Amino acid sequence: MEMDKLVSLCKRRGFLFQSSEIYGGLNGFWDYGPLGVELKRNVKETWWRDMVTGHNDRLTLAGAPSAYEMSGLDCTIIMHPQVWKCSGHYDLFHDFMVDCRETKRRFRHDQVCGRWVQHGQQRIFVAAEEGEQQADAILRHALKFFQLRNKDADQLQWDGSVVSLTTLESFEQVLGPDAKTLGTLTAPREFNLMFKTFVGALSGEEGAAYLRPETAQGIFVNFKNVLDSTRMRIPFGIAQIGKSFRNEITPRNFTFRSREFEQMEIEFFCPPAHSPQWYQYWRDRRYRWYTELGLSKDRLRLRDHHVEELSHYSTGTADIEYAFPFLPEGSFGELEGIAHRGDFDLRSHMEGKLDPNTRPLAVEKDDHGQPRWRGSGKELSYRDELTNERYVPHVIEPSAGADRATLAFLCEAYCEDQAPDEQGAMQSRVVLKLHPRLAPIKAAVFPLVKKDGMPELADEIYGELKRSFVVFYDEKGAVGRRYRRQDEAGTPFCITVDGQSVQDRTVTVRDRDTLEQVRIKIDECSAFLRERVT
Ligand code: ATP
Repeated sequence: MEMDKLVSLCKRRGFLFQSSEIYGGLNGFWDYGPLGVELKRNVKETWWRDMVTGHNDRLTLAGAPSAYEMSGLDCTIIMHPQVWKCSGHYDLFHDFMVDCRETKRRFRHDQVCGRWVQHGQQRIFVAAEEGEQQADAILRHALKFFQLRNKDADQLQWDGSVVSLTTLESFEQVLGPDAKTLGTLTAPREFNLMFKTFVGALSGEEGAAYLRPETAQGIFVNFKNVLDSTRMRIPFGIAQIGKSFRNEITPRNFTFRSREFEQMEIEFFCPPAHSPQWYQYWRDRRYRWYTELGLSKDRLRLRDHHVEELSHYSTGTADIEYAFPFLPEGSFGELEGIAHRGDFDLRSHMEGKLDPNTRPLAVEKDDHGQPRWRGSGKELSYRDELTNERYVPHVIEPSAGADRATLAFLCEAYCEDQAPDEQGAMQSRVVLKLHPRLAPIKAAVFPLVKKDGMPELADEIYGELKRSFVVFYDEKGAVGRRYRRQDEAGTPFCITVDGQSVQDRTVTVRDRDTLEQVRIKIDECSAFLRERVT
C-alpha cells in the first residue's frame, strides 16, 4: 500500500486534517475529523474496556501468575515541576540535534544516515534523512556533488553500508541532506523535548512548569492516593489515557511522530519477586491485543531490547513494532513499549531522583553531597496485610500511543479490491477493513429507493439503532455508490430496506468484507449488530 493513498483518503473522508490548515498548518500537530474522532475514540475505548473495566479480577488469566485488579486515573497535563526533576525528564529527556548552516534545516542526530563514497581523490560521507527513499537520495546526492550523470554511477566507489551519523566523530567531510557544500552540519547539541510554560502571573523560573511528556508520572505520584482510597491489594494496575506533549525535533510520517499525541499507559505494581513473570505476561498480553484487533502477525513484531539498549534500571524491555508502509522495506516503527522498571519511579518520588548509574540504585547527589532533586518524602512503600511484608513494589509499564495504534489500524485496513456494481460488473473499490469494534460507523441504513414506504421504514430502523450505535442514514444516489462510500469509511454493515421489507419487515444486511448479503428481521437488527461490533 502506498502511503499517499491512505493520506489522501484520510483527508477526503475526514479522518485526519493538518492542524490549523487554513493558516498553512503547524508541523507536528494533527486534527481528527468526523470519522477520525470516532475511530480514535474506539481505539481508546477498546483499550480501556479490554484492559480496565472489562478485566475480570476474579480470574487468573492465561499466562498471569495470579488474579489482579485494574483501575483508572485521569491526571492533569501540568503537574508540579518537581515531578519531572525526580522522574529524570528534566535532566535526561532530550534528543541531540544537528543544524545545517547552509539549508537551515534541523535534524535529529540519530535520524541522519549516510554512506562513505570516494570519487577521484575525494572521500566524503553523503548524508540523507532516515526514510523510505534513503538509498536513492544518497546516490542522487553523491552524483550531484561530483557532477556526474546517472550513467556514470559506477565511477563512485562506495565504502561500507549506510550508517548513522552518530557513528562519526567529525562532520568535516559530511555532505548534509540537500546541502551543496561539505561540513555544514553543526556538532550535535542537546535539546530538551519538554514544552515549557508558565503558571499564574509569575513569568520567571519560579512559575515555570512543563506540559507532561508522558502520562505515567501522574500514576506514580497518585500511587498512595489510589492505595488509600480503594481496597486494592498488590498486584494491581492503574491505567490512564491522555494527551502528552513532546517538542520533537523532526515530527514526520503523518501522525507517527507528532508533538501533541495521546498515550494509553498502565503502571502495574507487583511484588519484586514476581516481577519477571508479570513482565512476561504483559509483554504477551499487549502483543495479542493488537493481533486480536486485526494487525497481521507478518507486519507486527515483539522485539526484546538488547542489554545495551535497556534503560539502566530496567531488567527487561520489549517494543511492539509495526511495519508501517512509510518505513523502508524491512523496518518497523514502535507502537508500544513494555518495560520492567523495577522500583526506580516510586523510590525516586519518595527519596529523591535516583542516580541511574549506581548499583544498588542510590539518590543522585549534587556537589555539596545533597540530593540533586529532592523527593516528596512521602512513604510510597506497600505493606502486604496478609504477610505483613513491607516493600517498594516493582513496576511493569505497558506504554502505548493512541495515535500510532490508530495509524497502524488504518494502514492495515486500507485495501483495494473488486466488487460488483448494480449490473453485476466488477468494479475496483477502496475499502477500509477495520475491525468492527474499531470502525467509526457500525452500520449504514439505506432505503433502496425514496418511495413506496421504504424511507419511513429505514427511518424507523435508523432511529432504533442510533440509540445504541453510531449509524449513518443515506438515501442519495444509486445504492452501489452508497455501498462504496461506506466501504471507504470502513463501515462493516449496510442495511438496505427494499420492496420486500415493506411486505414482511425484513432487510438485507451486506457484509463489507465478504460482500455477502443476508436477510434478517427488522426486529433482529440491534441484536445482530451488538453481537458483531461490540
Ligand atoms: P520513539 O523512540 O519513537 O520516540 P519512545 O520510545 O520515546 O518513542 P515512549 O517514551 O516509550 O516512546 O512512549 C510510549 C509510546 O508513546 C510510544 O510507543 C508511542 O506509541 C507513543 N509516542 C511517543 N512519542 C510519540 C510521538 N512523538 N508521536 C506519537 N506517539 C508517540
